[in-house]
Amino acid sequence: MILVPGFEGRRVAVFGLGRSGITAARALQAGGAIPILWDDGVSGRMQAEAEGFQVQDLTTADWSGFAALVLSPGAPLTHPKPHWTVDRAREAGVPVIGDVELISRALAARPSDQRPRVVAITGTNGKSTTTALIGWVLKSAGMTVHVGGNIGIGVLALPEPTPDAVYVIEVSSYQLDLTTTFAPDVAILTNISPDHLDRHGGMEGYVAAKARIFAAQAPDAVALIGVDEDWGRGIASGLNSRVITISSSAHPRESGDPVLSQGQGAGDHERSSTDTPERPQNRVPAFAGMSGIEAVPSAIRAEGRNLADLTPARSLPGRHNAQNAAFAYAAARALGVSHAAAVKGLLTFPGLAHRMETVAQVGAVRFVNDSKATNADAARQALTSYPSVFWIAGGVPKAGGIDALADLFPRISKAYLIGQAAPAFAETLGDTPHVIAQTLDAAVADAAADAAAAGGEQIVLLSPACASFDQFADFEARGEAFRAAVLNLTSAPESAA
Ligand code: ADP
Repeated sequence: MILVPGFEGRRVAVFGLGRSGITAARALQAGGAIPILWDDGVSGRMQAEAEGFQVQDLTTADWSGFAALVLSPGAPLTHPKPHWTVDRAREAGVPVIGDVELISRALAARPSDQRPRVVAITGTNGKSTTTALIGWVLKSAGMTVHVGGNIGIGVLALPEPTPDAVYVIEVSSYQLDLTTTFAPDVAILTNISPDHLDRHGGMEGYVAAKARIFAAQAPDAVALIGVDEDWGRGIASGLNSRVITISSSAHPRESGDPVLSQGQGAGDHERSSTDTPERPQNRVPAFAGMSGIEAVPSAIRAEGRNLADLTPARSLPGRHNAQNAAFAYAAARALGVSHAAAVKGLLTFPGLAHRMETVAQVGAVRFVNDSKATNADAARQALTSYPSVFWIAGGVPKAGGIDALADLFPRISKAYLIGQAAPAFAETLGDTPHVIAQTLDAAVADAAADAAAAGGEQIVLLSPACASFDQFADFEARGEAFRAAVLNLTSAPESAA
């Protein structure tokens, strides 16, 4: 756990007693503060009391004595309307912060030569994959790495800082809204598309929250930004830190482009003026002369040359994963990892569960679990990664269903539809071969039989384009059910990744 100094002997209100709230209270108390805890729900209050914390009704508390309000990211700061604790805090002039701000202050309180480094990742899509990939690449390069935040372990529950450690933290827009001094050594914004607009009062608020990841960065800190949309480009052009832009291109590398040899760092060669993404003026390159990386299908490129061929990276299929790999490569290089070690890390990444995860290979049929694809946009990434698929989809549909995927229907050998969305998806699919399988188990059995009968290398893909809660507790439970169904097809799958 990370001790939070700076509030010694002072009362700090903690609202929202989920996992991160209780952890924040522990970290504050360990640092000498007097946390005062509250939640609208009884169960969180009971857990807090059982741990010996002071639980006090914040509706009747004297707010003038609080040094800060530590707010759960689940409670709205601004929209649809500020949580009542936020109103009370503002009336009393009490700053409102979150757990990411607390770790930021805890690390900043250490002498500069004993401060661990921080890599922070935000964005609409690809946060978890990029976070896990960076953790893997840095660990593979021999660094002491702690991965957490919005993924896995809450930031304040991560191990105590040591000078050589690197914290790799996934941060949501809600968490970023609750920061003021958070200044990652490497800050990453993967991409932006409309999401969570109800909580940010519209697109402007959402983009502003995402941009906060860069707001307190020092000029020598590194900013890695996806610039495939106007929002990313706009943010990139206004930063004072060292910027590397990450862009995607649908075009594979041109033949004849040299691949950098192992050990040769990007930028250790003459820069080509072609094919380099636009870089804001007057920027100091983050490292090795590099200012932009381009993600193409199965490769990442810089300065017109290939940095890494991702074809052997089985856990990074698709252009979106090349984008994630570009962020990870740049982050690792910015932290001093060699070109060769960074590329090796990318190629050996075992992948994250439920994101285009190969769960088994049975004969020539590969079974891919992309249960995390809970909307059509995410399913698009998976479908575009394969020339043909036996596709399992359905659940609770999002607005628009799979209408937007019509251009990909020719890739579908057959679709196996489950859950509430099945009848509507069947209608949308029209002439594309499909069957209403109802359950995931039936879909897996049907798809496996059809794929095996088709002969040759085939993919059975669960990428539902739907929420899961009509048939499962969450996307993880759905992915595990898929894995179990696949492993039950045969007692001895040839390999399970
Ligand atoms: P997040 O943590 O931001 O939700 P994940 O890494 O868990 O992101 O991926 C969620 C889904 O988004 C996956 O199913 C994947 O297909 C898709 N995805 C992953 N990376 C990207 C990316 N860079 N751009 C667009 N979509 C992506």
